[in-house]
Formats: sequence, structure tokens, C-alpha cells
Amino acid sequence: MEVLYSSTRNGERKVTASQAILKGLSDDGGLFVPDHIPTLECSMRDLMEKSYQETAYEVMKLFLTDFTQDELMTCIERAYDSKFDTEAVAPLVEAEGTYYLELFHGATIAFKDMALSILPHLMTTAARKNHVENEIVILTATSGDTGKAALAGFAGVEGTRIIVFYPKDGVSPIQEKQMLTQKGNNTFVVGIRGNFDDAQTGVKALFNDKELGERMANAGMQFSSANSINIGRLVPQVVYYVYAYAKLLKEGRIRDGEKINVAVPTGNFGNILAAFYAKNMGVPIGRLICASNENKVLYDFFVTGRYDRNREFMLTSSPSMDILISSNLERLIYRIAGNDAKINADLMKSLSEAGSYDITEQMKEQLADFYGNYADEKETAKRIKEMYENTGYILDTHTAVASAVYRKYVKETKDTSVTVIASTASPFKFTRSVMNAIDTKYNAMSDFELVDELSKIGNVAVPNAIEEIRTAPILHDTVCDKTEMKAVVERFLGIAAQS
Ligand SMILES: *Cc1c(COP(=O)(O)O)cnc(C)c1O
Repeated sequence: MEVLYSSTRNGERKVTASQAILKGLSDDGGLFVPDHIPTLECSMRDLMEKSYQETAYEVMKLFLTDFTQDELMTCIERAYDSKFDTEAVAPLVEAEGTYYLELFHGATIAFKDMALSILPHLMTTAARKNHVENEIVILTATSGDTGKAALAGFAGVEGTRIIVFYPKDGVSPIQEKQMLTQKGNNTFVVGIRGNFDDAQTGVKALFNDKELGERMANAGMQFSSANSINIGRLVPQVVYYVYAYAKLLKEGRIRDGEKINVAVPTGNFGNILAAFYAKNMGVPIGRLICASNENKVLYDFFVTGRYDRNREFMLTSSPSMDILISSNLERLIYRIAGNDAKINADLMKSLSEAGSYDITEQMKEQLADFYGNYADEKETAKRIKEMYENTGYILDTHTAVASAVYRKYVKETKDTSVTVIASTASPFKFTRSVMNAIDTKYNAMSDFELVDELSKIGNVAVPNAIEEIRTAPILHDTVCDKTEMKAVVERFLGIAAQS
């Protein structure tokens, strides 16, 4: 059955999957959502024997119904190839009786690679299908990991350019170096003096800037988004939850139909929303454990039904979760409002004007599948140290937040169902925080000394992504204020207004 997409803020106009991917964000500022969540056609027993690529096809074909079999298979083959350093693509690792779904085996060693390896292929295919001749300009705000993963995905892709904005003082040194050393003459990286929310708000404003859009169209260009607001990011993320369940079944860790819980370190709410979609496709998932760091706006929301971004923005050791406006939550709000775009649009208006909104009791009842909690900086560091001492396994800071929250969940609920924790980054990406958590004596070492030490004590090879940037030259040095983002974009695109 065909799946069409409409905006969370206006249910009237429906577009195909390829059109939704091309546009990224709807003109009314809303996010594209599928008109229904399709049900898995394959049984888990069949999926059990499938490779990651085959599973990806089984899942994605149900959402991207206007892509031909050939188109989708080609996208999948090009995405999930030797860029991943393991054939499993997303291996499950057991530690302390819980399963860590390692989503960091791609080119930039964070889970963003799972979707951003395929998005450029989906997007260029979508452009071809819709006879779009314009050059696609990818405009992206990053809290650290999306930026590099999107740059790696789009670098050198014909017919595209990519511009990435990141908070100058809000990413780890390794994350920053990864971005600033990006090759490819269609890539552009800009640090902004502000935080991630400033970058994301600025990017959304550029998307909605009609005058800029017109000048771009005249120059043969159009914007699209590689942020997790793009449905082409969300759909590939559903795959690994289906895959993880099938692999647990294959390995005899669960019975067919047995419910598992999923814990996800959360920022923009894309990853956990994908798990929710997987559940709605029929994967036996019980609770969705939403883990936040000290920016615990989501925890407060699940407890009180009030979303309130009016609070201090905290810089933490898990920077990819330092977010106060969780964009993808809008897709869930729309759903619990009974797919009512008007109700959702009003709430989002209140969020942008007053910085907060309240959901009704009836909407709140529909959140029973979710459990929210958070871990502070001390708890996160303690979790890394404990895990290392208990098992030798080294967690990155984001995964450690989820691991700490999962322990709170078990303590509170006594629910000991088999649990999968989404492991969203390699510890090599956040070496200083990780090593300091294990022992403060490491504080004196340089970033790359820490890399080698981590490899030694964790008995894991240094990933290619890190080796590559050790000596790579810095190729980007633009820094701007948040008010200058438009001018910077115009300059890069060569379409500055005549004055
Ligand atoms: C992006 C990111 C997250 C947050 O994922 P969302 O989909 O934005 O909730 C968590 N951990 C890491 C390492 C990330 O890069």
C-alpha cells in the first residue's frame, strides 16, 4: 500500500516519499510524517537469516513506496558497503547482561552514519525521479556528529553542495577536527558563536526565507536538509531496531514474540522515534527508555506533560545531546494529538513564541510506552568507569548516559526484560571525557596520546576515522555570529544581494 507524507502543521497537502526527502522540511515549517506506519511483511523468523542490507530493503521499501526495487537496492548497496568496518554493520555486544547495539562502525564513528550514508543516494535518486534539475544545497545544523557524517556522505556527490553550521565552543576537539579537515570543493563548514539551538533555529529560518529561496531558484539551486527532520534520515534508522530484534532471536537470546526494551541516548528525538516506528511496524518492543543528559527537557516533559525550553543550556560531556528543542518530538506530538495538524501547529507556535507548551491529559496517556530519565555528569562518568572495571568494555559518554538511565529504570520498575541500548558513538570520538572518567591521571595527555592510550587499555584498534585526521590539514576556518548566517550562505553560494 502506498505511503504518502504530509506536514505535521498542515494535513491537507500530501506528497510522495521522494518529494518529502527532497524538500526536507515542509513550507509551513512542519515535518513530514507518513499517513500510516506500515506493518512488516516478513516474519522475524525470515528476517533472522537476512543481512543488514536485506533487512534494510524489507523495511525501507514499506516507507519509500515510490522508489522502484532497483532504485532502493542500489541506494542500499552504495550506502552499507566497506565504509562500515564490520560485515554486521550494526553488531550487538553483550555487557552486564544487556545488549549494546553498536551503531558507530561507519565512516565517522557515530550513529549518524547509519542514515547519512544512504541519504545522499536517496536524495539524488529522488531528484532524478522528480525531474529536478536544480543543484541541491544541503543546509545542516549540527551538535557535532551529524555535521561530519553529512559532510562525508555528500562530499563529491554530483549535483549537491553542503553547508554545515556547528556551535564553535560546543563540540569535542575530535569532532571539530573531523569537520574542519573535510575535503571536497562542494563542502563548507562554519562555526557559529552560539549553541546548537541557535544553529538549528538559524538554519530553519534560512529554509523558510522566501526571498532567499527565490534568488536561489534563479541561480538554479534549492535547499534540502540532512538533519533528522528529513524523513530520509528517520526511515533508515528504523532498520537497525528490526535487525537487532531478529539477531537476538537468531542467537537464541529471546523467544519469538518476546518483548524487549530499548534504551536510547536522546537529543533531537530522531533515534528513539525510529524505535517507536519499529514498534508500530510490529517489532515486539515494550518500553522505550528515553535517556537525557543534564539538558533534561524531555525527562521533564514525560513526567509533567509540559515541554519547557526556558532554562539554562548546559554544555556536557555528551555534546550531541545538548539540545533544548528536540525537533523530532513534533512528530510524536502530532500523533498523540490524533494526527491533528491544527492542534500540533498551535503547540509549536506556543513553543516558538513562549518557549513552552502543555499537552492534554488525554495526549499524555498515549505516552505510556515511553519512560524518561536523565543522568548528570557525575553519574555518566561513574557509569563509564564502572563498566570498564566490571567488563573491560569502554562506553562513550552518550551511551553511558543511556546505560546509567537504564539502571535507574530497572531499579524503579523491576522490569528485567531483555534490553537493547543504542550505542551511538565510538569512545574514540570523546576520548578526553571517556579517559578522564576512567582515571583523572589521563588529563595531562594530549588528544591523540589519549587515543593511543584508549586503544591500549580497551584493547580495540584505533578506528580509521581517527587515524585519518591525526595529520590532516585544516581546510575550513569560517566563524560567524548567528545573525550572519544568511550572509555566509549567500557568499558561499555566490548569490549575495546586489547593494
Ligand atoms: C545525534 C546523537 C545522539 C542523539 O540522537 P537524536 O536522534 O538526535 O536523539 C546521541 N548520541 C550521539 C553520539 C549522537 O551523535
